Amino acid sequence: MSTRMRVLVLGGTTEASRLAVVLAEHREIEAVLSLAGRTRHPAASPLPVRIGGFGGTEGLVTTLREGGFRAVIDATHPFAARISANAAAACSRLVLPRAVCTRPPWRPKPGDQWIGVPDIAAAVPAIGPEAARVFVTTGRLELAAFQAAPQHDYLIRTIDPPDEGTLPPRHRVILARGPFSPEDEADLMAGAGIAVLVTKNSGGAASAGKVEAARRLGVRVIVVERPPAPGGEVLSGPEAALAWLARHRDAP
Ligand code: NAP
Repeated sequence: MSTRMRVLVLGGTTEASRLAVVLAEHREIEAVLSLAGRTRHPAASPLPVRIGGFGGTEGLVTTLREGGFRAVIDATHPFAARISANAAAACSRLVLPRAVCTRPPWRPKPGDQWIGVPDIAAAVPAIGPEAARVFVTTGRLELAAFQAAPQHDYLIRTIDPPDEGTLPPRHRVILARGPFSPEDEADLMAGAGIAVLVTKNSGGAASAGKVEAARRLGVRVIVVERPPAPGGEVLSGPEAALAWLARHRDAP
């Protein structure tokens, strides 16, 4: 191949970080990692990083066109529905190849006490009316929903500190970034007397420890299921991404 292939990687996930490491080693690919800027101290990347929204589909179309990008890999979180929809629309407009690097969702195993809900607002009543000790791992941005059930004791884990005004009255916040082992998660949950875990169905190994720990401890799990995604070819990991890029790089 004569010229380097410009690739935009939409990131903010472990998958995107892993992909960045592999793409950085391939001289024929010139990839840029894009982050929304939600995390105050994002993990370092070997790729050039751009931070912040594009300005909707229109802005993304402009960035892709002016940046000479020839492919997009959407490695965003399964709950980042807006950017994925925008990427699909922008690539369709520009007739650019787009693929998705995502993790399969978690599935309940026999004996698990899972309650699937469509969103965080629906997760709150699913905890039940009786006061319970609840472990919340759904991120810092939608915590205000739990103020509707002030009778519970919440253990809230986030990467960056949540805004005080969004917190329910009875809470303890712990700041930590995964991966978390099932053993450590079980210690944390057992130590805090947790009866209910609230989690998004993020999928993937890095945050599966809490689901496994809940299984071991018999903790009830309220699972916020994924929003609809625009679809597209799914790449199982960095090697699949390289093969996909190789298929597209010599296309006119
Ligand atoms: P979202 O609702 O789909 O996106 C909201 C807006 O943020 C988008 O319209 C876009 O702004 C901007 N944006 C999102 N991802 C971007 C990226 N990779 N590069 C540049 N701009 C981006 O997404 P979200 O749920 O707020 O998540 C934001 C980021 O955090 C995503 O990159 C995602 O991978 C990561 N993340 C999300 C979750 C979660 O639970 N939602 C969990 C872990 C990590 P413009 O319209 O202005 O382009």
